[in-house]
Amino acid sequence: MKIFVVEDEEEIANDIAACLNDAGFVVSKCDNGEDAWFLGSTEQFDAIILDLGLPKIDGLSVLKRWRQEDVTVPIIVLTARGNWTERVEVINSGADDYLSKPFQMEELIARLRALLRRSSGHINPQIQAGTLTLDMNQKSITVNGNATPLTPLEFRAICYLIHHQDRVVSREELKEHIYEQEEGRIDNAVEAIITRLRRKLGHDQIETRRGMGYCLKAAP
Ligand code: CA
Repeated sequence: MKIFVVEDEEEIANDIAACLNDAGFVVSKCDNGEDAWFLGSTEQFDAIILDLGLPKIDGLSVLKRWRQEDVTVPIIVLTARGNWTERVEVINSGADDYLSKPFQMEELIARLRALLRRSSGHINPQIQAGTLTLDMNQKSITVNGNATPLTPLEFRAICYLIHHQDRVVSREELKEHIYEQEEGRIDNAVEAIITRLRRKLGHDQIETRRGMGYCLKAAP
């Protein structure tokens, strides 16, 4: 799952990115409103964490522009503490949640996970697909109740597929959501990850749709 972090204070942005990485997310960072507006409108993210005080275009304007353009991605806004009118305006402008600065990283991660679950139609921290159970809090995957160790890339891939189960996910889309910008994207890398996942999780879980992509069946 790829998270877009828009925050101009480098130290905070790096802290958020490190914690998100630890929690199994891929992060893309941006430090100003103008680039954020463009990237948020043109690239596919699973969620956005948006600071309000940004150079070039302020966060609230960016938020409003995205929603006017029908960018539907879930957004958590970072607000100043104690300013309730600002928080009301943020929610009225289309934010899904907010967090007042300073905040605990654990709370940000918890809210982000909850938001991602809801946006994919799930309520519990454990998401089921056939014999697989993904636990976002534990960052674990079990097959018929047995824990199966996965590499970070494998976890990111299965995590995305489980959140989008019963839908065909193209190789390009999967690649987009599991790799950091800087990471080398070798063309058949996604296939290699899928092969390893099938070996570890069972061969009938992930179907290949020729010329279209992969589909993780809710009931294989
Ligand atoms: Ca700021």
